[in-house]
Amino acid sequence: MRFVILIRFRIVFLSAFARCGEYVSSASPEQEILLEFIHGPTALLTNYLHLERHMKLTFLGTGNAFAPRRDWGCVLVNDTLLLDAGPSLLVNLKRLSVETTRIGHIFLTHFHGDHFFGLPFLLLEYRFIAKTDAPLVIVGPPGVEERVRAAAMLAYPDIFAAGWPRPLQFVEAKAGVTATVNGVTFTPIAMRHGGADMHAFGYRIALPDGVLAYTGDTTMTDAVYTLIDKARVLVLEATSEEESPVHLGRAALRDVLSRAPRNSAAFLTHFDTPDTKAWAGLGAILPCDLETYHLDIPAAGPPEVRHD
Ligand SMILES: [Zn+2]
Ligand SMILES: [Zn+2]
Repeated sequence: MRFVILIRFRIVFLSAFARCGEYVSSASPEQEILLEFIHGPTALLTNYLHLERHMKLTFLGTGNAFAPRRDWGCVLVNDTLLLDAGPSLLVNLKRLSVETTRIGHIFLTHFHGDHFFGLPFLLLEYRFIAKTDAPLVIVGPPGVEERVRAAAMLAYPDIFAAGWPRPLQFVEAKAGVTATVNGVTFTPIAMRHGGADMHAFGYRIALPDGVLAYTGDTTMTDAVYTLIDKARVLVLEATSEEESPVHLGRAALRDVLSRAPRNSAAFLTHFDTPDTKAWAGLGAILPCDLETYHLDIPAAGPPEVRHD
C-alpha cells in the first residue's frame, strides 16, 4: 500500500522585472522548501517546474566541444534550472542579466568539459559575488560531487574553504528512477555516449502534462525513444550531419522527430557548424546562442512558441 505525505512550506514573492521592456513574467516565481515522506512502492510524483505552463528556454550555448563559433552547450529553463553547464555559462548569464541566485537546479548529463566546465566559475560567483543561502541542487552521473568539487578546486583551490555560503546538494542520477528534489521531479534515462566508463544521462523533467526531455550527448539508442515519450518540449543534440558512435546524426534525428509526440515542440542544439542550414526541414527549432524562447504549453495541443 502506498502512503504519501507531502508537506510544503512556500515563500512566495512577486517578481515584476523586465529586460529592456521586452518581457514581464506572467507568473510568480517561488522558493519552495519541500519535505517528502514516501512509503511503499515508487509513487507517482507530481511536482512541476516552476511557472508550470509557461516555459522560458534560454540557449546560453548551442555549440559542441569544438566551439564552432557557437558557445558551449547550456540551456537555462525559467531562469531557475540549468541543463548542463558549459564553460561559457557565467559570462553568458551576465550578458543576459540573469539573476544567478535564482538558479536552484543544475542537471549535468555527463562529465565532458563542454558540459560542466562552467561550474567552477559559477561556484566562484556564489562564493564571492552572488551570495545566497538558498540550496543549489546539482544532479549528475555517479561521482558528481567528487567531479564538481575537484574541477572547482583545480580552478580555485580555496573555493570551498571556511565561509562557503551556499548549501550544495549533490544528487547522483539513477537510470529510470524518478526523484523529486526541492520541487522538481525528474527521471534520468541512460544514454549511450563514449566508452563503457562514460555515464551519460538524458533527463525527463516533469511538467503538468508531460515532460521536458533533454538528451545531452548520445548516439542513437532505443533509450532516446523512452526519453521523449509524452514529451511536450524536446531539446535534442544535433552534432553533425553524419551518424557517429557518440552523437546523433541527421538521419537518426529525422526518425526521432517523426516519432515525437504531436503536441510537442522540439529544439536542436550542440551543433558543429555556425549555420544550421543542414538541419532545416526536420520540423525542429534551431536556436542560436543567447536566444530566448517563451512557450505556452496547453493541456492538449502543441506549445505556442514565441521568440524574443
Ligand atoms: Zn558535448
Ligand atoms: Zn560529450
